[in-house]
Amino acid sequence: RPAPLSPADYLFKIVLIGDSSVGKSNLLARFARNEFYPNSKSTIGVEFQTQKLVIDGKEIKAQIWDTAGQERFRAVTSAYYRGAVGALLVYDISRRQTFDGVGRWLNELHTHSDMNVVTILVGNKTDLKHAREVSTAEGQALAEAQGLFFMETSALDSSNVAAAFQTVVKEIYSILS
Ligand code: GDP
Ligand code: MG
Repeated sequence: RPAPLSPADYLFKIVLIGDSSVGKSNLLARFARNEFYPNSKSTIGVEFQTQKLVIDGKEIKAQIWDTAGQERFRAVTSAYYRGAVGALLVYDISRRQTFDGVGRWLNELHTHSDMNVVTILVGNKTDLKHAREVSTAEGQALAEAQGLFFMETSALDSSNVAAAFQTVVKEIYSILS
């Protein structure tokens, strides 16, 4: 007989937002499955993926939601945001246009979810050093002005990917406990 499943102490819904092709699906694939898709299409991706973390001896399930490419049509629904307690707002450091879109995503997030949703601004694709269009300092300054956490990541070479997700989960946990 299988052992009963032990319930997690906490379940946090966390949403991935940001312009199309910034690497949201690959950040989740890297974090949850240690996978990377060099030529992924925006339709690839699961509705959400659950990842277990242990903080302070408490088991936390992070239920991380990914868009199925709806952001391309500016059609991320309110159901996507409902109940979210955390968000990763991702831009691509090699495409300034995606950084310019951050304000619009923040408005959308705050329209559809609690004002206190723990949010980290994530500058992804740091491996593209020679194509960088947004400096680390600019990302940091925007995050500071908006009261967000900040981190630069690469889903390709894995740098800071786990740290970005863990930052959000730890902060949510510390607010609740
Ligand atoms: P999404 O539309 O935001 O979900 O973006 P995807 O995860 O589908 O990624 C879009 C494209 O960028 C794909 O071709 C990925 O392989 C690529 N990509 C994602 N993350 C990185 C990264 O950290 N570095 C590089 N060089 N490419 C990346
Ligand atoms: Mg995607």
